[in-house]
Order: sequence, then C-alpha cells, then structure tokens
Amino acid sequence: MRTIYLDNNSTTRVAPEVFAAMEPYWREQFGNPSSLHRAGQAARHAVETAREQVAALIGARPRDIVFTSGGTEADNLAILGTLAAAPTKRHIVTTAVEHVAVHGLCERLVREGYRVTFLEVDPFGRLDPARLERALDDDTAIASIMYANNETGVILPVETCAEICAARGVPLHVDAVQAAGKLPIDAPGLGTALMTLSAHKIHGPKGAGALYVGRRARLRSVHVGGHQERDIRPGTENVPAIVGFGAAARLAAERLAGGTWQGVAALRDRLERGVTGQVPFARVIGDREHRTPNTTNIGFESLEAEAILIALSEQGVCASSGSACSSGSLEPSHVLKAMGIEERIAHGAVRLSLSCETTEEEIDEAVGVIVSVVKRLASLSAVTG
Ligand code: PLP
Repeated sequence: MRTIYLDNNSTTRVAPEVFAAMEPYWREQFGNPSSLHRAGQAARHAVETAREQVAALIGARPRDIVFTSGGTEADNLAILGTLAAAPTKRHIVTTAVEHVAVHGLCERLVREGYRVTFLEVDPFGRLDPARLERALDDDTAIASIMYANNETGVILPVETCAEICAARGVPLHVDAVQAAGKLPIDAPGLGTALMTLSAHKIHGPKGAGALYVGRRARLRSVHVGGHQERDIRPGTENVPAIVGFGAAARLAAERLAGGTWQGVAALRDRLERGVTGQVPFARVIGDREHRTPNTTNIGFESLEAEAILIALSEQGVCASSGSACSSGSLEPSHVLKAMGIEERIAHGAVRLSLSCETTEEEIDEAVGVIVSVVKRLASLSAVTG
C-alpha cells in the first residue's frame, strides 16, 4: 500500500539534493570547524556557506544567523537569552497559540515568578495587534509572537507587531518555523530582533535550526562552553546537519521564487472542498484568508481525532492532530482551546499539511479515504451512542 504523507507541518522528507550535500560531511569531510588545519577549515567553509544560504532565505546578513539544534532550542535561546541580558525586567508577552517550545517555556517562567501575558486570539485564530500594544509596559523584556501557527496555518500580523514593539523599545521574537520557505520573509525589513527557523520543516534534516539575531537583539548565551556561534551558542557545530539546512534553505528559496506554493494552495483548497463538500459534519478551523498555503485543520464534529488518525493511517494516509493523549482521554490542543473552538469539534480536529511534493492524484485519493473513514466512524458512534 502506498503512503500519502499529509503531515508536513510535523516534518518533511529530506530532499535528495539535501541528502547529497550532507553525505560527504558524514564521511571524509569530518573536520571540526574550530580546527586550524585543512580538514577543519573545509568544515568551517561548509558551515559558512550554509550560513549564507539560510540568511538568504530571510534576507538577513550571514553573521546574524546562529545555528542551533532545532526550532525548539532557538525558541528557548531567544527568550531565555533575552531575559538573561535584561535581568531587571520580569514581564513577557506572547500569544495563547504559540508552539509548546514557546508556550511551555512561558508557563514555566510563570512558575518561576515572571509575569507573562498570553494574548488572546479570536475564533479564527487571529490576533488583534492592539492587544499587544496594551500589554507592553516598562517591565516587558521580550514579546514572542509566531509568524504562522503550526496547527491551523493561520498567519499572525507580525509586521504590525514589530512596529509596535519597536516603538516601545521591546525586542520581538518571531517563531517563523512554519512560515519560512512558504512565505517571503525579510527579517531585517520586518524589524524583528529575533527569528526562529527549523531545517526539517523545509526538507532539511532533523536536529538543525537557527536563530536570527538582528541588530535590535540583546542576548546572553544560556549554555557555557567554547566560542562557537559568536559565543551565543557554544558547542561543536553539527556540520552535516548545518550543511543540509543550507541546501534545504537554497531549495526553499528557489521554490518560493518559482511560485510553487500557489499550486500547493490550490491542492489544499481542493482537499478542503472535497472533504467538506461530502461530509456535512466537517468544519474548517481557522482563518482561511491568511494562512500558510499548505495547511488545513478540519474538525469532524462528535468524532475523536485519534480514531480518525489511526483509521487514516491504516489506509495509508498520514495526518495529525494537535491533541495530546493524557491519561487515556484526548485533550484538545491549547491552540484550539484558545480559539474557543467547541469541544465537540476540537476533539475531532485533524491537521492535514501538504508539501511541494504532494500531487493532485494523492489529494484525490486522500479525499476518498478521509470521507469514507469519517463517515464510517460517524455511523459507528451513532450506533454505539
Ligand atoms: N515552532 C513551531 C511553530 C513549530 O511548528 C515547531 C515544530 O513543530 C517548532 C517550533 C520546534 O521545532 P523543532 O522541531 O525543530 O524543535
């Protein structure tokens, strides 16, 4: 049975050209970039080339890119590093719909005595920037607002948020993990202090990410060690993964320039139409105007997402949900809760996320599978009450 992979917001397939670029750095090119000899310098050169490629994806200067072990570490470094550099400030502003790398960290910071404002969103997942304006005060050390949501694809108004933060002298961190490569981004033009990127969402390897550290950022490292990555992120660089990240960033920039995503958005819309047209109890969650081109989140009323995902997987369709299985009961994600989605819809919410590799044939087949699975589950739950 073939697999129809519609879970690209979780991770993407490593592109063949990315794999090819990485391969020598697992074999003969094994030098440490900090070594002065030729083996080390070859690795240094590869890391610096990757830095240029990643910087180019977001219009940044190569020196503003700090490589990390992924998006999670970059998010943590952005917030904890800024707090460490501004020890007298005790207030953080973020949204209620951030990825757990930001949301969970902010919840921990509350327990440690920080004041955190979690900005509310509307039922479409939209943020009113006026909420940010009202939340900032003289004690605010940082604001952290994602570019696009991982569960719904909804795009937040980061440009206006950056202007508001700049006017108040508050550094802004933007988690752009789900936006980079899908939307044109100009980090310096945006005026954000910090921006998080992750390689494995753009057909690069897992375990590689970056933090853009712009002119407005004041950051202290949170780890102690060598002088790598401008003393901001010590530790010997993961050279093969960084090389792969660079190759993936280059590929993403080419695809972005080539207009590939318009085709992906058309397929996503075809998927949505196909499902909602045949399933009366299906509802698209989130703002359909402003979202990433590859994502849809569909709530199937009165069904359990876990049952849907297992049944889809048995038929070769890979999708996911934002729900976490805790103590046997499925808790709707904090994102859908924050949007105020009714429980009977949030429990049955399934995220389908496409890539540039998704084909029309796959979408049509997936529609058939999804429709038959949810109709079967609905008839079962009607029988069992
Ligand atoms: N931020 C967002 C919005 C994400 O979607 C993810 C991953 O799903 C992360 C951060 C974490 O990135 P990583 O998996 O590279 O740690």
